[in-house]
Parts: sequence; structure tokens; C-alpha cells
Amino acid sequence: MDTLRSYVRGRWHDAADSTVELVNPSTEEPVVRLASGGVDFGGVLEHARKEGGPALRELGFAGRGELLRAMSKVIREGRDELLELSRINAGTTKGDGSFDIDGGGYSLNYYGKLAGSLGDGNVLPEGEGVQLAKTEAFWGQHVLVPRAGVAIFINAHNFPVWGWAEKAACALLAGVPIIVKPATATAWTAVRSLEMIVESGVLPEGALQFICGSTGDLLDRVGPQDVVAFTGSADTARKLKTRPSITERNTRFNVEADSLNAAVLAPDVRDGPAFDLFIRDVAREMTQKAGQKCTAVRRILVPEDAVDRVEDALVGKLEKVVTGNPEDESVTMGPLASEQELESSLERLGFLSKDARFVLGARERADGVGSPAGKGYFLAPTLLRAEDARKAEAVHEHEAFAPVATLLPYDGTAADAAEIVGLGGGMLVTSAYSNDSGWLDGFLGRAGSYSGRLYVGSDAAAEGAPGSGVAMPQSLHGGPGRAGGGQELGGLAGARLYMQRLALQGARGEMDRLAGTEEG
Ligand code: NAP
Repeated sequence: MDTLRSYVRGRWHDAADSTVELVNPSTEEPVVRLASGGVDFGGVLEHARKEGGPALRELGFAGRGELLRAMSKVIREGRDELLELSRINAGTTKGDGSFDIDGGGYSLNYYGKLAGSLGDGNVLPEGEGVQLAKTEAFWGQHVLVPRAGVAIFINAHNFPVWGWAEKAACALLAGVPIIVKPATATAWTAVRSLEMIVESGVLPEGALQFICGSTGDLLDRVGPQDVVAFTGSADTARKLKTRPSITERNTRFNVEADSLNAAVLAPDVRDGPAFDLFIRDVAREMTQKAGQKCTAVRRILVPEDAVDRVEDALVGKLEKVVTGNPEDESVTMGPLASEQELESSLERLGFLSKDARFVLGARERADGVGSPAGKGYFLAPTLLRAEDARKAEAVHEHEAFAPVATLLPYDGTAADAAEIVGLGGGMLVTSAYSNDSGWLDGFLGRAGSYSGRLYVGSDAAAEGAPGSGVAMPQSLHGGPGRAGGGQELGGLAGARLYMQRLALQGARGEMDRLAGTEEG
């Protein structure tokens, strides 16, 4: 059995201690070993800061754009191998693996093109310049410049490729070298995709390093120019971002955490394209990647008099899902990524079922089609229903990171829907399905600030809407409060995390030259 290697300081690193065996989550057969330890993290940081950073900044935006596009090509060319690894390592169907792998390649390519349009410099003007005295002799202009540190990515298990790629696209565009720490459960897929990039030689040395397993004392060594971009559970985020090394040096720390996303059906939608889109979206967002998506729908708000109808329609869709080993071609939904994920989901289903009853599924592991009986971390699609949305406290508190969602009735007003949505404490995405502009105005006004993204499903959008769970590089990804308060992606805004905002002040001509805003 192979043992996964880290890549640090220009070399492959075979660790000696802390070995864990990763298993195929569909069969529980051991597939690969992961070992960590023995990494000189001080040296890793120095290598990135001294070698990687300067080499990247030497290239300017457009040069770095070419690197990003070359990285995207490497992932595209390795797609078939990665899809197969993802099936064995993460239990993904082809469609679910592609969501991660193609999504990663797409984000790299998108940012590659964007960087190509920014010229050869390293300074980005932000907004309009402003006269600060009686004449243009004293002028102000905000700019963004690359931070001189390192970007450390700590990633969740559910997106082994997109998880690092979407962050890398923004950091490398900005001119900041990266250190990636994949989640252990799906590290094989992540590590192989990162190995492909290293082997291709597209990046200058020091621009990319990655670490298997423990991060040792890495986070105790970060400095004020470094950025830690974390994706994972709110509990882990809290532990890491409150470390003295981070708080005392004000190291930038971005958190993308868990989220109790809501889908809201407005009372005007009873049938037609918007209703069909709502049912299709909710069923897909519950079951795509076996519900292991930070943007998955967890709470389904429906006007009281429509709950029975929606329940029937959803159950009809969810009953068609075939749960099992994706090696079997009839399977449409794979297992959870690890035994720990299954246990944690069953525990959380225990909390949810105190406040809601099961409509479909139960608090129990399922056998999977194409897997030996008793083996595999399967959970069938599970729909719960609460009769009083406000009293269902657990539904607004516990994320079962699995194909699980709860139906919640509301009185049909935008005000009631907004208040119930807000009980989730901050979301990555909320979806609202309505053709009624007045209802949508009321909902945006009251619920807008609870989420990082509002996806509006309507008759007019039904044909093009990709589903509320798709995090597109063009739009912001991140949400307030419980969702972590972070901001990623969103076009050029995604690079801001890795850049310093600076107010330039001086005579207009020189400011325009420094900022690259001269006319002509
Ligand atoms: P997790 O258990 O919190 O782990 C996240 C990452 O933190 C993993 O790489 C983990 O490494 C690492 N980690 C844990 N303890 C650490 C420590 N002491 N020092 C350094 N690193 C440490 O989360 P997960 O189970 O992988 O992912 C599921 C969660 O992520 C869900 O709650 C989901 O909602 C959230 N998520 C959010 C987003 C978003 O964009 N908002 C996206 C995807 C997932 P090991 O695996 O080696 O322990």
C-alpha cells in the first residue's frame, strides 16, 4: 500500500510517524497510508517567503495568470485519474467527483483569464482617486498590493480538489505563495492533484508546498504578513483562530465554516417552473455529494398550507435516489467520507429528531447497493419535518453533514420567513423561490444580511439556475456569523484576502503612475 508524501522545501518528504490508514468509504477496505511528522515548519515558511513569493511577484498579474491557466490544464488532463481516486478515496459518483475536480479546474482557469487582463504590474487600483487639497497637488488613491507572506490553506474533506484550487487561484493571482494542508479523510485525492501540479513544473519553486497530516507548529510560526484560509467546522475554526500566535500578530484568518442554509418557498409559487425548480434544487442540494456540501440545503421553509404537497413531491424525488458504492453504475449517491462522518451525522440526527419527526429515512446506517452487507458509511436520504419552526431549536443549531434536511412551516409572509431563516445564525446561501417582486423586496430587506448569497428561483430563472449549492468564482462565497464571517471568490474581490489595502497620497501625477491609473 502506498504512503502519501508531503512536498516541502523543494523535496518530497516521507514522514516516519503518526501513520493512519485511509479506507474506501464504500467497502471499508484500506487503500492508502498517510503519515505525518518530521517537517521543519520554520523552513517551510522561509522557503515560501524567500523563494516562492519573490518569484511569483516577479511575474506580475498577467504572468501569474498564465500559471493559473497552466494549472487548470494539468487538472483537466489528470481528470480521469482524479475521478477514479475520488471514487475510491471519497466514495463519490462520477457526477459528484466532477463537481469537485472540474469545479477546481474551472476556478483556476477563470482567475487565470482575469489575471491576464490586469497587466504586468503588482498594484491594483481600488475605486476612484480623490483630491485631498485645493488642487491636484495632493491626491489620494486606494490600491491593493500583494502581502509579503504566505497563504496557508487548511481544507475540509468534502472538496479535496476545488477546496485548494479556489483558494490557490486567488492567492497566486495576488502573488502570494501557498502551503496546503488537505483534510486527512480525502487526502489521497487532494495530494494526487497537488502532486500533478508539482510534477508538471508549471509553478516556480516555493510557490506551492503541501503537508499530509499534522501541521505541527506551523500555526505557531505565522507572522503579520501571512494569511490562514480555513475551511471546515465552526468548532475547529474557533480552536485555530484563537491561538495566541494568530491573535497577537494579527495574522489574517479567513473562516469558511458550516452553515444551516435555507430554501424558502414563497406563497405565490404553487406550481409551474419555479415550483419544479424548488423541488429539483432541494432534492439535489440534499443528496449531491451525499449532502456533504457546505452550501447544501438543511432547512426547507414552506407556507403552512403547502407543506404536505411539498413533502410528497420531495419524497417522490428522494425515493428515486440509489445509495451505494459508486462502482455500481446504478448508484446515484455514495457514502459519507469516513466512519467519523457517519457517527457524527447519526449523533446530530439524534438531536434533530428531538424537535422534528422522520418523514423519510431514519437514524441508522444503511446498506449500500454494490457493497458488502454491513460495510460502508452509507446514510440514505433523510427528510424530517417539524410542526413549529421556532420551537425546533436543534434544526437551527446542528448541521448533520449528510443527506439530511428538515421541513419547517411558516405563515407565508416574508417577515416570518426572514425571522426563521435568521435563527440559523449566519449562512453561506439562502434560496428563495418566488415570482412576486413585493415578497422578494420584503425578504431581501429582512433576511439579506444573514447570508453571503441570495439565490432567487423564479419562472424566469428556472431555465438557467444551476442550483443554490454551486459556489461560482464570479460570486462571493462566505457568510456571516456561524458560517465563519469569511469572504472568498467574488471575482477580483477574492484576491483582496491576500493583498494589503493601501491609501497612496501625494501629487496626482505620481499617484496615478504608482497606481497605474494614468490616462492613455
Ligand atoms: P474539520 O474536521 O473542522 O477539519 C477541517 C480541517 O481542519 C481539516 O483539514 C483538519 O485536518 C484540520 N484540522 C483539524 N484540527 C486541526 C488542528 N488542530 N490544527 C490544524 N488543522 C486542523 O472539518 P471537515 O470535517 O473536514 O469538513 C466538514 C465541515 O466543513 C462541515 O462542517 C462543513 O460545513 C464545513 N465546510 C465549509 C465550507 C465553506 O466554504 N464554508 C466548505 C466545505 C466544508 P484533519 O482532517 O487532518 O483532521
